[in-house]
Amino acid sequence: MLDLLIIGVGPAGLMAGYTAAKGGAKVLIVDMKRDIPVARRACSAQFVLDDGYEGETLKIGDGKLIFTKNGFEVPYTGKLVPIQHNYMISPKGYQVDFSYEDLRPTAMKFDKNALLKGLLEQCEGAGVEIRPGTMALKGCDAGEYVKLTVKDENKEYELEARKLIIAEGVNRKLTAVFGLNKGYQCMGVPLTYEYTLEGTTGIPHNSWIQYYGDVYHPFMEIMVGESTYSDDALEFTIMGIGDQKPKAFFEKLRTESPLAENLKNARIVERKGCACKNFLSLTRPYAGNVLAIGDSAAHIEVINQGAMMCGFNAGNAVVKELAGEKGFEEYSRWWNDAFEFNCEDPAEQLKMYGAINIKRTLSDDEIDYLFAMLVGEQHSGHFNQYEVPKNFWTAVLKHDDTIRAENPALYEKMSAIREYKKQGKF
Ligand SMILES: Cc1cc2nc3c(=O)[nH]c(=O)nc-3n(C[C@H](O)[C@H](O)[C@H](O)COP(=O)(O)OP(=O)(O)OC[C@H]3O[C@@H](n4cnc5c(N)ncnc54)[C@H](O)[C@@H]3O)c2cc1C
Repeated sequence: MLDLLIIGVGPAGLMAGYTAAKGGAKVLIVDMKRDIPVARRACSAQFVLDDGYEGETLKIGDGKLIFTKNGFEVPYTGKLVPIQHNYMISPKGYQVDFSYEDLRPTAMKFDKNALLKGLLEQCEGAGVEIRPGTMALKGCDAGEYVKLTVKDENKEYELEARKLIIAEGVNRKLTAVFGLNKGYQCMGVPLTYEYTLEGTTGIPHNSWIQYYGDVYHPFMEIMVGESTYSDDALEFTIMGIGDQKPKAFFEKLRTESPLAENLKNARIVERKGCACKNFLSLTRPYAGNVLAIGDSAAHIEVINQGAMMCGFNAGNAVVKELAGEKGFEEYSRWWNDAFEFNCEDPAEQLKMYGAINIKRTLSDDEIDYLFAMLVGEQHSGHFNQYEVPKNFWTAVLKHDDTIRAENPALYEKMSAIREYKKQGKF
């Protein structure tokens, strides 16, 4: 019998398979994709370099990614593009720059296919069997082992293994089948399109840019980042929900927004999409012989570096479980410590992030007014999505007296944010 069956060859599943195999386990990974090292879902593919992000400080060099705190390395020889600026841009074009004074990168754009290829080769070298074109459908934990029903293009059949890792990504189908998602409600299914464009003008490279305001998008910021497709290319990430499709927002951006002139001669060279079910994080990501890792257990995403950390710790956890130790419990403790979304009161955390969400909080005129105040100031170089809004409001609150005098209605609107700051929440 197999020691370990894994659903999903994303960075979490591949890293778990490799680590468990190195520890002596007989491992099989199934994935519904036929072309394993090709990433078809939208992903901005940037490594976050903030010290301590997700309990780790990632270093990149000599053809590898070095996880300095978790203590492992991953081969990576693909293209890298440094991200030096994290810009927020207002409807009238006021630009707030979060960067380091010495312009060292805050993040690194990478080639996701190259990452998956390196992880796949590592797995195969360690003797892991990989079955592409094989979808996991259902299963059960039989106590001593786990049964999984899978389907390839010819037939449906059953697999058995002593342990199962679910690394199926954000949509949690098998996570629910095995009962781990019980009691968790889906809070929405945002749709994302990622357009890779060549031929744009006047939009900076080596940057991560967020355009705020209704003139760009009615309920989200538009995100623009580097691309590994070509030196000229940039990636535009645009969200939608329900019948408000990203494609319609992209057309408006291209033809009617303040960016229309910059996009006049641009052409689409690639387009990817995805739908992501939005669940809260699993506080206990295991039950019996089954462990859910990576995005399958997260609130939205662990991002690629987090997925590899999950895989590394999960692979080791399985080796311990097979030896009769409490590997899953240990994994769960690491999981709850490492990720910011694993907190004591997730509902309260969501409320705070809602209150400090720039797009949800401010009108276009208010965005212009506040961004204009911050232009030319040096702001923290943090890249991580939790820190950036906090750093923005910390910078804004330094102008509180001026805002009170010049714009009392906005000052009043900011009272919840002022209160969060006073309570030391950021
Ligand atoms: C718009 C967007 C932007 C992002 N930006 C970044 C970024 O800048 N940096 C970053 O690092 N990350 C980013 N991410 C997040 C990143 O893509 C994920 O966090 C990461 O891929 C999670 O890895 P994973 O291994 O958990 O899951 P995934 O990479 O999703 O892998 C899951 C695998 O499971 C397979 N699978 C699913 N169901 C089944 C089934 N039933 N049977 C068999 N196989 C199955 C899938 O085919 C897939 O191969 C972004 C994501 C999105 C949507």
